[in-house]
Amino acid sequence: MTPLNADLHCHSTVSDGLLAPTEVVRRAVNNGVELLALTDHDELGGLAAARAEADAQDLRFLDGVEISVSWGDQTIHIVGLDVDPSDATLSAGLANVRSGRDARAQRIGEELERIGIHGALEGAQAYAGNPALVSRAHFARFMVATGVARDTASVFEHYLTPGKPGYVEHVWATLDEAVGWIHAAGGVAVIAHPGRYRLPEAEMTRFYDHFRDLGGEGIEVVSGAHSPSQVRDYARIARRYGFAASRASDFHGVGESPVDLGRASALPPDLEPIWLRFL
Ligand code: AMP
Ligand code: MN
Ligand code: MN
Ligand code: MN
Repeated sequence: MTPLNADLHCHSTVSDGLLAPTEVVRRAVNNGVELLALTDHDELGGLAAARAEADAQDLRFLDGVEISVSWGDQTIHIVGLDVDPSDATLSAGLANVRSGRDARAQRIGEELERIGIHGALEGAQAYAGNPALVSRAHFARFMVATGVARDTASVFEHYLTPGKPGYVEHVWATLDEAVGWIHAAGGVAVIAHPGRYRLPEAEMTRFYDHFRDLGGEGIEVVSGAHSPSQVRDYARIARRYGFAASRASDFHGVGESPVDLGRASALPPDLEPIWLRFL
């Protein structure tokens, strides 16, 4: 049996992707995706247009979101799948998460000014398709365009990650809030790209335990951010905790994302694919 080509995490210009929501859907169709979730950061604003295009193209579509969460001094991302975009609890929660971004962007701009990188706030804003959602990715694009670094990965490495001069600490939602909002909106909660987090193993264990105790349902075993050995690591976590497994490109745009829509590797075959509950 050929597994379903499900891609359950990607971005549009409504957050920090490079394609409009309708373009994301058309690219997914062209790439052979059979079930797509658009999961913009802390935003539901692209879902209506994406769903309309998916309906027109006969593509199965899930309303999704990727929520920024603070866990100690780390940022963790939780994907919500099959959420009701009209749910008031979820919308209000996300509005609150987004509201801190302006002041944060201002501070990132100030930190970069201090080291001689001028006009970065205005530069980042010019790259943002949604003025309510200026992200580090927009700063990175500006800094590549102005020759500060050769690509976005090296901007993050040298400027925008903890300990680097343009990194600003920020408090996002709590894990309890994020999972609670997703469940209030009828969705399922999935740990995004666990291979990206830099937590000691004991702290990751505490995080998985807490996520499971909150009723969290899934984990991205396959992510565009994962190496083959990380896929094996997180398959083990899925088995140990009884999490359903998700598969996702985390596509932001051509030239920026290592994996295109629908092109992530297949899930290890013994895992329970999270999409079985959406078919
Ligand atoms: P923010 O939500 O503003 O903190 O921005 C986070 C976004 O920056 C992520 O969703 C990615 O799109 C991007 N990002 C984070 N780390 C990296 C990295 N090391 N290389 C390239 N992009 C990154
Ligand atoms: Mn992003
Ligand atoms: Mn993420
Ligand atoms: Mn993402």
